[in-house]
Amino acid sequence: MVVGGGITGLAAAYELTLAGVPVLLVEASDRLGGKVWTKRVEGFLIEAGPDSFISYRPAATELARELGLGGSIIGTTEPRRVFIRARGAMVPMPDGMGLVLPTRIGPFVTTPLFSWPQKLRAGLDLILPRRLDGEDVSIGAFLRHRLGRAMVDRLADPLLGGIYGAPVDDLSLFAVVPQLRDYEREHRSLLLASLAQGRAARARASGSPAGSLFLSLEGGLGSLVDALAAAIRGAPDAEIRLSAPVAALEREGSRTAVRLADGTRLEPDAVVLAAPAPVAAALLADELPVAAAAIRAIPHGTTGVVTLAYAADAFARPPEGHGVLVAADEPLAFGACTFTSSKWAGRAPAGTVLVRAFVPERSAALLGGPDDAIVAAIHGDLRRLFGVRAGPLVRDVARWTDAMPRYTVGHLGRVAAVEAATTGRPEIAVAGAAFHGVGVPECVARGRAAARRVAALVGSGVEAAAVAGAA
Ligand SMILES: Cc1cc2nc3c(=O)[nH]c(=O)nc-3n(C[C@H](O)[C@H](O)[C@H](O)COP(=O)(O)OP(=O)(O)OC[C@H]3O[C@@H](n4cnc5c(N)ncnc54)[C@H](O)[C@@H]3O)c2cc1C
Repeated sequence: MVVGGGITGLAAAYELTLAGVPVLLVEASDRLGGKVWTKRVEGFLIEAGPDSFISYRPAATELARELGLGGSIIGTTEPRRVFIRARGAMVPMPDGMGLVLPTRIGPFVTTPLFSWPQKLRAGLDLILPRRLDGEDVSIGAFLRHRLGRAMVDRLADPLLGGIYGAPVDDLSLFAVVPQLRDYEREHRSLLLASLAQGRAARARASGSPAGSLFLSLEGGLGSLVDALAAAIRGAPDAEIRLSAPVAALEREGSRTAVRLADGTRLEPDAVVLAAPAPVAAALLADELPVAAAAIRAIPHGTTGVVTLAYAADAFARPPEGHGVLVAADEPLAFGACTFTSSKWAGRAPAGTVLVRAFVPERSAALLGGPDDAIVAAIHGDLRRLFGVRAGPLVRDVARWTDAMPRYTVGHLGRVAAVEAATTGRPEIAVAGAAFHGVGVPECVARGRAAARRVAALVGSGVEAAAVAGAA
């Protein structure tokens, strides 16, 4: 049985059907997808949650291909330019930026994003000795030591802070960017390691067209959810139940019984618990209190996605590139914005501009207020930056309250504690964005892995009885 119909739970349920295990997926809300939420409004395709998956983690691409969506995988459109708003100016991100580090020296040396003293400070990394000693540290502290404050404030924080919904001074180096730890261990200098990686990647890619770092689907990420749901529903002995929140997990002899909020009691052989971590912790509180406490120790942040559509001629200065990352000390309500209509084909009718803005934790107070106030704040930012002179044609506000798992320093220890506390109960597999990666590909991979673990345990006849009994 699978609890939670987000991408993790759907991937788990799909994997169980492939293993020939009867499966019941129960979802609390009246729709599948969880944070993956594609909406179509007046000809616009709006992603209220994620808008893409990263290309170098293959699990989402592989799943899309398996489900017959290979032909509708799309990359971002050229030119793939992103700007950084820092000290009141809009500066293009230097070409060849990898994960917060340059992979080409030329664009980094010539970028106006940093002053010469700041570039020289970053260059100190070339001679600094190794610093890490096996203890996790914050990304901010580590990078500030090696590369200086400006690299953190203008690159690392806007890039990573937005994805993980937390300042880099809180985020775990080991959990979020372990490759930077490996760079230091293997090469000592992060810059030398990144430049070497860049050369190797360019040699590998020579002769083939440059790929897109971010991928999506023609019909939005919701089409992956729809395809998963269709595959699950089409499998024998598989059922998806919506508006069916789980209220409790209860010990039943050597098994775990599941009680739904409507009083239905199910006795599956095994449970993949793919609800958001705070819900998972509450459901495990009686059965596995140590695991519940370990899960509760993973903090969650709040964010919002505000999507506004405009007539193109509403912009006095048409926005360039794919979007803007905002340094934390800029007086703007959004932390980043994407020009969806420039970044992806097929998201907006001709003659319009579709903007997707992220409301960061530092503006979280806005999210507590009415939609009108949030929209006015984001519209005001766009007016200041691009001279927008007419109101939006379409608006969508998505609030994600306490929904972003934050991989803070020590995260890997907390995950190890959750795993240690659940080893005695192999019939319960906990999976989801809070543990081994927040991205859609990691959620898919971990959901499928959790399903394979429980499939090995399951006596299919019993699970089938649970499904039939509950129907
Ligand atoms: C604004 C935003 C933008 C993002 N952008 C990207 C991006 O561009 N690329 C990327 O890779 N990732 C992105 N992410 C991260 C990614 O979307 C999520 O980490 C991922 O979708 C989480 O999937 P999940 O299935 O683990 O959890 P969820 O999507 O939270 O699914 C959990 C499900 O469990 C259900 N549930 C809750 N309680 C119960 C209960 N008691 N019983 C039964 N069901 C229950 C919920 O209703 C929900 O459907 C973004 C996230 C957010 C919020």
